[in-house]
Amino acid sequence: MSDGYVDTCIFCKLAKGLVRAEIILQDDKVIAFKDIHAQAPVHALVIPREHITALWEVDETHEPLMGRLLTTCNEVAQALGVGESGYRVVINSGPDAGQSVDHLHFHVLGGRKLAWPPG
Ligand code: 5GP
Ligand code: ZN
Repeated sequence: MSDGYVDTCIFCKLAKGLVRAEIILQDDKVIAFKDIHAQAPVHALVIPREHITALWEVDETHEPLMGRLLTTCNEVAQALGVGESGYRVVINSGPDAGQSVDHLHFHVLGGRKLAWPPG
């Protein structure tokens, strides 16, 4: 659970209100906020309040939470006005994917044409 990580994990701190963030929506399980270095006109992050290091740590016990996180990504996209124009949800997991914060997070990107394949 997140308490053990709150000294070292920036997103645990953020979820506890110890680090400022532009919060879009939140509930008892998840929190969505704007990315500090936006890569698109819309760039939000959706995280579980519970500390999970990366997608590789997720197992079947997390399935309800994973569903909640994806539903939240859609709610965020709708709230930020890209539900119709389109958006991309990205999870970077591990070094080759470029994960830089070791607390599971879903990127929600939109507001411009996104290139494919990603780099
Ligand atoms: P990753 O590279 O791990 O997939 O994504 C981490 C994301 O977290 C990056 O897009 C980065 O800009 C964002 N980020 C890192 N630290 C903070 C922070 O303190 N606040 C916010 N809002 N975003 C952060
Ligand atoms: Zn954490």
